[in-house]
Amino acid sequence: MSRTVLVTGGAGFIGSHICKALSHSGFIPVAYDNLSTGHADAVRWGPLIEADISDGGALRAAFDRFTPDCVIHCAANAYVGESVSNPQKYYRNNVAAGLSLLDACLAAGIGRIVFSSSCATYGIPEQLPIREDSVQEPVNPYGRTKLIFEMALDDYAQAYGLNFVALRYFNAAGADPDGELSERHEPETHLIPRALLAAAGLLDRLEIFGQDYPTDDGTCIRDYIHVCDLADAHVAAVRHLANGGETLRLNLGSGQGTSIDEVLQAIDRITGRRVPVTFKPRRPGDPPVLFADTASARIKLGFTPRLSDIDTIIRTASPTFGLEVVR
Ligand code: UDP
Repeated sequence: MSRTVLVTGGAGFIGSHICKALSHSGFIPVAYDNLSTGHADAVRWGPLIEADISDGGALRAAFDRFTPDCVIHCAANAYVGESVSNPQKYYRNNVAAGLSLLDACLAAGIGRIVFSSSCATYGIPEQLPIREDSVQEPVNPYGRTKLIFEMALDDYAQAYGLNFVALRYFNAAGADPDGELSERHEPETHLIPRALLAAAGLLDRLEIFGQDYPTDDGTCIRDYIHVCDLADAHVAAVRHLANGGETLRLNLGSGQGTSIDEVLQAIDRITGRRVPVTFKPRRPGDPPVLFADTASARIKLGFTPRLSDIDTIIRTASPTFGLEVVR
């Protein structure tokens, strides 16, 4: 069996952490990335192929050269707001280009795929915590493109005998505790990095979208999972498929709900800095509360989050923004 795993989006925030985790587990990660949002200097644990997943010729060449046994597919656009204003980009990159990757895998006889899916495929949940068999009714184009790709994987798996693990991420956050990798999005839209930017004085104020949600403190509740825990789950998924394991659809979260106010308290506690805030209306399409039931990932992959408590997330993310950790 080849120890090589091709990681699309391997130069991105999550993909680069996955490459590091693969390498530390004895695999050779080949990062395949068009560098539209990724960073070449985040690729340190194996080769980088700078190409697009819509480029069948480049994929074929990469598969011929490196003969991967498994593909982890992370390359995608992932801004909910942008997906509403520019759905064309999302359907083109997340669906059409994703299908060309699937076709190239089939042609090369690669029958094991780990897919970066999202809790955005569930939309507004009817029940909490969210289980994998909950209704999937996404409320924005981003979530729809992720769900469509899961459906394509399902149909391809039935017809062509491939096996896949669809990992539905909740809110990825934190950074490599060794300080070798960080979260660098441009523009940055996510709560934790924006709050840390504001704490560091690099952003005037954090805008909080909504203080009238039906939660204890009125702010939205999300399930923040440390990116290294997420990365470890991918390694477990690769091993599962390599051992002939069945197709799986799994939530990846911490299983804990944390409100925006609790995130800000953690920043205060860990860095000694108060985040300056201003309150804004709710952001369209934001469900009030999301958190995962993670029992399936634990049972099927042995997944146990080690770093996903909010303090560790803030502690590991803070140095990226020049913030000292005081506790
Ligand atoms: N949020 C906020 N201010 C920001 C960014 C995000 O209040 O500058 C809120 C957002 O409305 C949501 C939560 O923080 O309730 C998490 O948002 P994020 O964009 O990080 O992740 P999402 O849950 O949308 O994937």
